[in-house]
Amino acid sequence: MRRAFIATTWTEDSADDDIDTLIKAIDRCYDSLQPLLGRFGQFNPLPQLKVFGSWELSNTAATSPFPNFEWMIDRSLSDDGKAVVASRFVDMVHLEPWQSSFPHFDLTLIDLPLIDDVRRSATHYDALGMCQPGLVSVISTAPLEVIDDPDLRALTLSHIVAHYLGRLVGTLELQPAGYIYPRAPHRHCLRTCAMRYLDDNPMLALSFAQEQAEKGLIYCSDCQHDMVAAMVNYRLGIN
Ligand SMILES: [Zn+2]
Repeated sequence: MRRAFIATTWTEDSADDDIDTLIKAIDRCYDSLQPLLGRFGQFNPLPQLKVFGSWELSNTAATSPFPNFEWMIDRSLSDDGKAVVASRFVDMVHLEPWQSSFPHFDLTLIDLPLIDDVRRSATHYDALGMCQPGLVSVISTAPLEVIDDPDLRALTLSHIVAHYLGRLVGTLELQPAGYIYPRAPHRHCLRTCAMRYLDDNPMLALSFAQEQAEKGLIYCSDCQHDMVAAMVNYRLGIN
């Protein structure tokens, strides 16, 4: 299905610094892919980034079945109301009227804990993120509370954003060299790359982020090529 843009959203209590990191991280990922693209003015497969934040429909809020973003979050909460349940949020994204009118990618930042019951289990309360490739990635900043230093938190979150952006556009779905560990619930990269398996471990994400910052790279060359190829497929609707 053709998908030409990424809608970025976040919960209203997300920290301003985290939101800033989210947007800048996506920009850096796009910059890293530029050398693989054609000259300016030629076909550009990068999905346009549309920033919706914690959106609200001002005129139709009273009657729309989907009046605002927090409404979608509220209906995605666990029974104890303390965390977002991944499968419930994915259902919300599927049902969102705008998704059926204008199919797009959703990249969402939440400050609440995330239960990844899609890939892991209903008792897994501290997921860094979850992804349904081709549709939605959700990233939770709740596990990052263990990192006190704001610069290290931003570095870690940037790495996680790069990982879930890559998975959102289906990077690892294309890659025959992708790997699956017995413990990993999905394909991942084994090179020095943002597509390595994070195991929902914020300290592992931090160590990967530091290693890659020292080397000045985000994705390995194979994942860069696969990411652009996946974006072309979605841009043209041939996947
Ligand atoms: Zn890679």
